[in-house]
Amino acid sequence: MMSSERYPMKMSLLIIVPVYNEASGLKHFVSEVFSKVGADFDLLLVNDGSQDDSLSQIKSLAQQNERIFYLSFSRNFGHQTALRAGLDQAKGYEKIVMMDADLQHPPEVINEMLAKYQEGYKVVYTKRLKGEEGFLKSMTSRLFYLILNSLMEFKIESGTADFRLVDHTVLKVIQDHHEADLFLRGMMPYLGFKQTCLEYHPHERFAGKTKYTFKKMMRLAISGVTSFSDRPLYFSIYTGLIAILIALLYLSYAISQKISGGSVNGWASTIGAIVFIGGTQLIVLGVLGIYLGKIFFEVKKRPHYFIAEQKLK
Ligand code: UDP
Ligand code: MG
Repeated sequence: MMSSERYPMKMSLLIIVPVYNEASGLKHFVSEVFSKVGADFDLLLVNDGSQDDSLSQIKSLAQQNERIFYLSFSRNFGHQTALRAGLDQAKGYEKIVMMDADLQHPPEVINEMLAKYQEGYKVVYTKRLKGEEGFLKSMTSRLFYLILNSLMEFKIESGTADFRLVDHTVLKVIQDHHEADLFLRGMMPYLGFKQTCLEYHPHERFAGKTKYTFKKMMRLAISGVTSFSDRPLYFSIYTGLIAILIALLYLSYAISQKISGGSVNGWASTIGAIVFIGGTQLIVLGVLGIYLGKIFFEVKKRPHYFIAEQKLK
């Protein structure tokens, strides 16, 4: 028997798309993907607890097209979790593409990804060139990568979003990570494998507005750093050392003043020291708390998401 008959899906491609309140542009997005991607594929829409009309649109799309599948969460679990849920359903596919639902990731780039895949790359990630995104967005995004990379052992190139192709061997390895919050962007450089990067010009969001508020972005950054690095834990030691150094310098200054008959204003310096040390301690406690919280969630081993409805292969 031909191997292609035994494994009918092995040549296949799955495109995973997290959807959160994208009703205004979803139909257009889907028709763009089907018209621009020049290969056969299945499309898996993961409804991340949208409060708008997204789910009913997804359902009607899935009814009209047998290659469209969906999962619907019981509530909003976040973009990364939606991607994970998609990946959990990707078994049997040869390659998987993850992309956003707002057409900021141009579907035609998927054709280039597939070409790179043919050249033997296991991961094809993308980097957005300076584009039409707003000033605030590009500033916060740059800040995001700056914080991330200064604290992480594995560097993430700035401008890499969750628009990538991975092959089934990489998928298998990702799925072996059962941690509570999976940070895919950090995962790719950490996993290794033969990777290459494609650059693209991001478009303006086709419809709706960004779902990544500053708060969600900060949370993603903190979760990213603390998933991959214990460097923040060393922060307390360094700041402690700096505080001691400053205290010693100040002490020697005070003593020399005393000897030479001058006087030092004690109140201001005491309050200054208390506030400085107090602030440092709070930061350190916060950092410890974040890691402790992670351990708390890991230990509980809760399911990562709840599926309310689905149409799967
Ligand atoms: N998204 C999601 N859950 C969320 C936030 C966003 O599934 O809680 C989806 C969203 O529908 C989109 C993708 O994740 O397909 C990226 O979100 P968005 O375009 O708002 O982020 P940005 O491109 O502004 O960083
Ligand atoms: Mg977007």
